[in-house]
Amino acid sequence: MERQTEICIAGGGPAGTLLACLLARRGANVILIEKQPVPGPSFRGEILNGDGEGVLRKHGLLERIAPEAVLPLVRLEYWENRRVVKTILPDKEGGNVGVHIPQADLLRALLDEAGGYPNFTYLPGTTVRGLLKDEAGRCAGVRVQRADGSKEEIRSALVVGADGRYSSVRRHAGIPASTQGHGYDLLWARIPAPEGWEPVMCSTIQSGQQLHLFTQARGFVQIGWNIAEDSYGELRKRPFEELTRTLIEAFPKLAPSVREHIRSWKDFVLLDIFSSRSESWAQPGLVLIGDAAHTMTPTGAFGLNEALRDADVLYEELLECLERRQRTELPLERLEQRRRADVERRQREQFYMESEYAQNFYNKTDDNIHSGDK
Ligand SMILES: Cc1cc2nc3c(=O)[nH]c(=O)nc-3n(C[C@H](O)[C@H](O)[C@H](O)COP(=O)(O)OP(=O)(O)OC[C@H]3O[C@@H](n4cnc5c(N)ncnc54)[C@H](O)[C@@H]3O)c2cc1C
Repeated sequence: MERQTEICIAGGGPAGTLLACLLARRGANVILIEKQPVPGPSFRGEILNGDGEGVLRKHGLLERIAPEAVLPLVRLEYWENRRVVKTILPDKEGGNVGVHIPQADLLRALLDEAGGYPNFTYLPGTTVRGLLKDEAGRCAGVRVQRADGSKEEIRSALVVGADGRYSSVRRHAGIPASTQGHGYDLLWARIPAPEGWEPVMCSTIQSGQQLHLFTQARGFVQIGWNIAEDSYGELRKRPFEELTRTLIEAFPKLAPSVREHIRSWKDFVLLDIFSSRSESWAQPGLVLIGDAAHTMTPTGAFGLNEALRDADVLYEELLECLERRQRTELPLERLEQRRRADVERRQREQFYMESEYAQNFYNKTDDNIHSGDK
C-alpha cells in the first residue's frame, strides 16, 4: 500500500506530536507515525520548565490539558540526614519551579486537537523501517511496518525524524551522531504519593547514593536512583531491597507506599544515560528534531523542553513556506542554525550540574534561594 502526504513525522513523542498538531491546524497534510500502540510511555521527561510551558501557552495548548493532569511544583529541596538543607523557591510568588504533566495527558491533548482536522492522520503501532529516495537521492518518504505486520510506503515532501534517542530516521539517513556517557545510569520507580505529600522535588545523597523524588500529577511520586554506568546487570543479582532501604532511610514518610508498590526488580525501569549530538540536523527532504537531533540526560529536566522548542521553531520556519505555497525548497537548515547553540549550551550545563551536584550539600544555606539565582 502507498500513501501520499506533505509532511510525514516519524515519532509521536512530545516533539513530533506538537509539530503535527501545529501544522495540522494550519491546513498542512500531515501523517504522524508512532511505533507504540498507545501514546505516552510511562517513564519520560514530564516536567515543563518556563521554556516548554511558554511554547504550550503561546499556542493555546496548555488549556487543552485536563486540569488534574497539570501540577505546578512549589519548590526543590536538598535533603541530608532526613532534613532539608537547602530550598529553591520560584522566582515570583505564585510561580513554580516546574510543572508536571503526565506524558500520556500531554500527548492525548495534542492528538485530540490535531484529530479535529481532516488533513491529519495518526498511525499508532507503526514503525519506520527505511527511507524512500528520489532519483536525485533526496529523501522522499518512509517505509513503515504496521502492527499487523503489513508494509506500506508513505511518500512526502518532507520527513521529520522525531523518533527519539535511538532515531532510526537518523540511522537510515546515514547522519552520524557523537555520543557521550555521563558516568551513571538511572533506575526509576513510581509509587502513589502518601497522604498530605506536597508538590515538591527532592534530592539527597544517602549512603553515598544520589536519590531524586519528583511529585507527579494524579497523586504519584517518581523516584530516581543514580547507579554507576553499566552496573545494572550486576546490581540485579542482589536484593532490590538494598535500594528501597536507602530510599526509606532518606524519606521515612514514603515507607508504607514503597513496601506496598515496589516488590521486585520488575517495578524498576532502567534509563541508560548518555547525551548525543547529530553531526547535522537536516538533509534534502529530511530534518531531525528533539532527542533524535540531540539526546539530553534527565539532569535539569531540559530534554522535553528543548524538544518542544525544536517543534515550535521548525513550525515557524515551515509556516512561512506553507503560507507562500512554496513547498519544494524548505529552509530545513534554519532549525539547526537557530537552535544548535542553545541546545549545546544546555548539554554543557548538564555536565556542569552533574559534576557540581555534591556542592548543593556542602554549600548549605539557611536562606531560601530563588530559582533565578541558582
Ligand atoms: C526514562 C526517561 C526519563 C527522562 N526524564 C526526563 C526529565 O525528567 N525531564 C526532561 O526534560 N527530560 C527527560 N527525559 C528526556 C525526555 O523524555 C526527552 O528529551 C523527550 O521525551 C524528547 O522528546 P522527543 O519527542 O524528541 O523524543 P521521545 O520522547 O523519545 O519520542 C520519540 C517517539 O518516537 C517513537 N519511535 C521511536 N522509533 C520509532 C520508529 N522507528 N518508528 C516510529 N516511531 C518511533 C517512540 O516510541 C517515541 O514515542 C527522560 C527520558 C527518558 C527516556
